[in-house]
Amino acid sequence: MPAQLLGAHMPSAGVLGNSIRNGKAMGCTAIQVFTSSPQQWKSKPVTDEVAADFKLASKETGIVDIISHDSYLINLCAPDPEKREQSIQGIKGEMDRCAKYGIRWVVSHMGSHVGQGEEAGLAGVVESTRRVLDETDESVSICMETTAGQGTALMAKFEQLAHVIEALKGHPRLVICLDTCHIFVAGYDIRTPETFEKTFDEFNRIIGFDRLKVVHCNDSKKGLGSRVDRHANLGEGEIGIATFRLLVNDPRFDRIPILLETPTENEGHERDLATLKSLIA
Ligand SMILES: [Zn+2]
Ligand SMILES: [Zn+2]
Repeated sequence: MPAQLLGAHMPSAGVLGNSIRNGKAMGCTAIQVFTSSPQQWKSKPVTDEVAADFKLASKETGIVDIISHDSYLINLCAPDPEKREQSIQGIKGEMDRCAKYGIRWVVSHMGSHVGQGEEAGLAGVVESTRRVLDETDESVSICMETTAGQGTALMAKFEQLAHVIEALKGHPRLVICLDTCHIFVAGYDIRTPETFEKTFDEFNRIIGFDRLKVVHCNDSKKGLGSRVDRHANLGEGEIGIATFRLLVNDPRFDRIPILLETPTENEGHERDLATLKSLIA
């Protein structure tokens, strides 16, 4: 079996187990899902039947690297206490559903400081995250995602992610999801072998590859440092295909799910998955 785990974010298709089956049909060896609508606070409870079907689909397909992406509404440092509490309950609910499905990783954007400033925002994220980790099942970890830094979004700098990990004393259930589009528009160049090496050396020094559990593999419609998050199909954006060749052939990314969140029009994911496979030396 190749060392690279390649896949995509799969749309929900009735029961969640079908997302795994559809991922297998597309040729994925890892997938990402939403366990509920990412634009809503409400979610349906996970029945034993649906959870059993999910586990069966995982067993049937051999796809065991399954990642969940939490709601876009969550802001763990929201200045409004009610919104912050709602966010804490939101990610806890997500992690509870994942525990039932047997999903180990929840990707989260963590939060935006919304005018409080970076320091207060990070302190809020640390406090909320501590509580969430204390009050959720041991089997599920939080994958903090690197963001584009749009608006007042935190986690656009490696130092901010490292700060949260450090403040929580290197909690074993606090890991990282790296998004190639986000880090690029946040100002980390990865377009040449030299800049790719420099950025990932920096990532390794500040955070460490041992914390990296998920990669979101997206080209970018917007330029370096633009802080605007618009994903593009591979080779059709500002990052370019050379970066993705470096990525899939770099042993530091072996066995880490590399997942597409690129536009799905015109079989976008099928094309991008085929591209990734063709880039493997
Ligand atoms: Zn992403
Ligand atoms: Zn994005």
